[in-house]
Amino acid sequence: MIRAADLIERKRSGDELSDEEISEFVLGYTCGDIPDYQMAAWCMAVYFKGLSGRETHALTDAMIRSGDTLDLAAALGRRVVDKHSTGGVGDKTSIAVGPIVAACGVPLGKMSGRGLGHTGGTLDKLESIPGFRVELTIDEFVAQVREIGVAIIGQTGDLVPADKKLYALRDVTATVDIVPLIASSIMSKKLAAGAEAMVLDVKVGDGAFMKTLDDARILAEQMVDLGKRAGRTVVCLLTDMDQPLGAAVGNALEVREAAETIVGEGPPDFTELVLDACARLLALSDLEIDVDEGRERAQQAMADGSARETYERWIRAQGGDPDLDVLPRAPVVHEVRAPRGGVVTRLSALPIGIASLELGGGRRTQDDAIDYSVGIVCSAKRGQTVAVGQVLADVHARDEESAARAVEGVAEAYEIGDEAPPVHGILLDVIE
Ligand code: URA
Repeated sequence: MIRAADLIERKRSGDELSDEEISEFVLGYTCGDIPDYQMAAWCMAVYFKGLSGRETHALTDAMIRSGDTLDLAAALGRRVVDKHSTGGVGDKTSIAVGPIVAACGVPLGKMSGRGLGHTGGTLDKLESIPGFRVELTIDEFVAQVREIGVAIIGQTGDLVPADKKLYALRDVTATVDIVPLIASSIMSKKLAAGAEAMVLDVKVGDGAFMKTLDDARILAEQMVDLGKRAGRTVVCLLTDMDQPLGAAVGNALEVREAAETIVGEGPPDFTELVLDACARLLALSDLEIDVDEGRERAQQAMADGSARETYERWIRAQGGDPDLDVLPRAPVVHEVRAPRGGVVTRLSALPIGIASLELGGGRRTQDDAIDYSVGIVCSAKRGQTVAVGQVLADVHARDEESAARAVEGVAEAYEIGDEAPPVHGILLDVIE
């Protein structure tokens, strides 16, 4: 029997703990034998001393063993792929990627999370579609992936309960932004959900957990390593979150943009990321094609309407109405205009995410209700030339007062100068 205080002290001194010690500690915490304060102290020791690759693997493995696991490949008789994002502003990628990949004949069954703070969650976005159900049973989930090729649902109660408990504790003890804890949190959920190959979108920039490319690379390398140790293939795309992704930020606004993107009418940066993710997922699937061929097939599914058809079947299968006209619309729309002519040199993601949150589009605590209709559409992005008075963004609000506040916040997120900023694509690096 381990003594939790000893493990905390040894981690604080920088010792490497054994697999058995980590396993007992995590499973003891999950069943309530080890109290929150000891786990919190251990997480803080990890903040200062880190975890080795072996310890991170042992932690991930113990978290997976804390609950049920799914074997989607056995249930479907197919190689199943999955995708995940570390979270950002305007990130509706899964809603576009799922139906495109499914239209290309590759099943995608995904468990997603809700938004917290300034980052949105795929489940909240999908729930802005009238009637859409995110809580399917595992049997319904598997059947839908088999029939339609795509299902996105909430995390079921029995998968990785250790992460549920630990994440909530980390959230209130300043221990969220610790690379091995993020890596094991994400990977335990992905590995337990059963996909054999996955694309992880690691966001980098002011709107993301990882603020620098170097930090994002370290996180990506740890997740690729955890995948290898578990016998799965992981490809990490490091992508720009120094400005919002695409134009729309806010739940129903993002669903609309995702649906427009799968018919080729989306913003260029978002379309680029969707194609990159689809190409990689198709190359990891059992189609036995390379990334270039994957990209061509994804483009074809967008152009011939099959991605849109799959989208509609998917939304209906989960009880939703795929007609974009039924999405909630905010009653008040205000424009944010350029105070001068020039080039957009900065459009910070974080203040846009916060403005959307304050409009009511996100939640500060788990119990807050969301207004699905509100948000911001940033029509001008970094590098774009604008004339004085040109519309930079539209604020969609529930009333005049919140609209006025958001207009100020959005205006401050923009910087207009004379010289174009360095240009780079959305994809900053690939780690595999
Ligand atoms: N997302 C997760 O699922 N876990 C983390 O720790 C951070 C981001």
